[in-house]
Amino acid sequence: MSGFLGDKSKMTVHHLANRKSECNIYHIEMKDREYFTPDTLDCAKSKDYEFCKFCID
Ligand SMILES: [Zn+2]
Repeated sequence: MSGFLGDKSKMTVHHLANRKSECNIYHIEMKDREYFTPDTLDCAKSKDYEFCKFCID
């Protein structure tokens, strides 16, 4: 199970364990999903993802 999921269409990263209905992660198309190695926010940030305002403080 991954901790974080990136949405390439919006360049937003979500925290899966803390996801909210507002995140709409089920609407992210498979081609737009990115998982991170290492699976950390620092890694997502280094790829220019913005933090989701619903599931990441
Ligand atoms: Zn989110």
